[in-house]
Amino acid sequence: MTRPVVIAIDGPVAAGKTVVGKKLSQKLGYKFVDTGTMYRAVAWMAVVRGVSPEDEEGLACLAGEVSLELSAENGERVLANGEEVTAALRRPEVEERVSLVARLRGVRVAMVQKQRDLAAAGRIVMAGRDIGTVVLPDAALKVFLVASQEERARRRHAELVAVGKAVTYEDVLGSLKLRDRIDSERAESPLRPAADAHLLDTDKLTVCQVLQSILELMED
Ligand code: C5P
Repeated sequence: MTRPVVIAIDGPVAAGKTVVGKKLSQKLGYKFVDTGTMYRAVAWMAVVRGVSPEDEEGLACLAGEVSLELSAENGERVLANGEEVTAALRRPEVEERVSLVARLRGVRVAMVQKQRDLAAAGRIVMAGRDIGTVVLPDAALKVFLVASQEERARRRHAELVAVGKAVTYEDVLGSLKLRDRIDSERAESPLRPAADAHLLDTDKLTVCQVLQSILELMED
């Protein structure tokens, strides 16, 4: 069997892309890149520098100029212009504006270039919204994870509660629905499966079952 050297995993908020992508990359000895962290880093830099989510030109400049380093240990640490920003990427200011920042063409062009550079050496699992459609249309295996909004909100709520965040399920569901809508309805690279992606409904599957299904797809 020849293994695909570039694997794209796309899907909406909390569909399981990161946890599954990380495990898959560990199993294969591949690099893992969660591209959501890159858009989050731009959104955070915009907060720090006082650039409004409406300022398309300012955000495009910021995205073009920022140097992003994702840590070798599975993309969990992010440095922006040499500064540790990992913890900031989950702050409410970032949650609120990341989808607004990510819908801008200038921002996407800069991020897609960085993502292609990261994938150039192969042996990579890349997770996001547009990896199979735009960033790596030639990826050897494309997976699109789906799950109901209620199940995804339940998962995200449990994750937040586990790290001591005081949030309600209703708030999590509301913010997830809003991000789904912005990500799916934007003009630039909207969230949608590539024509040749394998759709996997994770609603009733455990992480291990999803991983197993992807490994089976690799055998095909
Ligand atoms: O995956 P995560 O929830 O961290 O992504 C944060 C936001 O970044 C998404 O809601 C989406 O607006 C944007 N994003 C994107 N394209 C990607 C990855 C993330 O537009 N490839």
